[in-house]
Amino acid sequence: MHIVGLTGGIGSGKSTVAKLFTKLGIHSVDMDDVARWVVAPGEPALDLIAQHFKHPNILLASGELNRPLLRELIFKEPSQKAWLETLLHPLIRQRTHEALTTAPRHTHNAHYALLVSPLLFEKKIAVEASIAIDVTPTTQIQRASLRDSNTPEQIQRIMASQFGRDTRNAKADFIIDNNRSLINTQAQVNALHHQLFHHFK
Ligand code: ATP
Repeated sequence: MHIVGLTGGIGSGKSTVAKLFTKLGIHSVDMDDVARWVVAPGEPALDLIAQHFKHPNILLASGELNRPLLRELIFKEPSQKAWLETLLHPLIRQRTHEALTTAPRHTHNAHYALLVSPLLFEKKIAVEASIAIDVTPTTQIQRASLRDSNTPEQIQRIMASQFGRDTRNAKADFIIDNNRSLINTQAQVNALHHQLFHHFK
């Protein structure tokens, strides 16, 4: 199976576009989901994090990781961030590989699968081709703040930690313009799928 990276900034439409590819029988794995799976209750990494950070509130009452607290703890201490990344990165890589190679049967004839990550280029994740989703920063902030409780300031902070629009677009093999309607985006996805399908055949 060939791996195609799908990237874009916060709120650009990665999940939305991945679903449009799913309709065409393409398997996709979102690395943000994988990053959550590896620290889910019952996962060895969660116990290691709880033991390492020793903060009384590092786990929520539900047994899940207190992500905002962890973010705060590692933001203050670069060495703690490095410790966490050394623990999680190999696990995320391994689980991503497993998830990509255990594609549902109906996607087996598709020749390629999508690896979705906002930091595809920033983290230099190896893929055979890449797609960037392009939206204006204004649309990004509007859509991301409509979707969840992040304030425009929080969204802008996350945007500042990701590559800018021009840098991302320049690195991508293909660009999907997601500024307009979903019907318009679906048409671009259909055309791109046709191209990728024949390229990897
Ligand atoms: P994140 O990186 O934050 O996880 P994302 O890149 O996966 O975000 P989505 O969740 O797919 O982005 O999209 C953000 C919001 O914008 C969602 O509410 C989605 O329904 C909406 N959206 C995406 N594309 C369009 C579009 N073409 N027209 C209108 N709304 C859209």
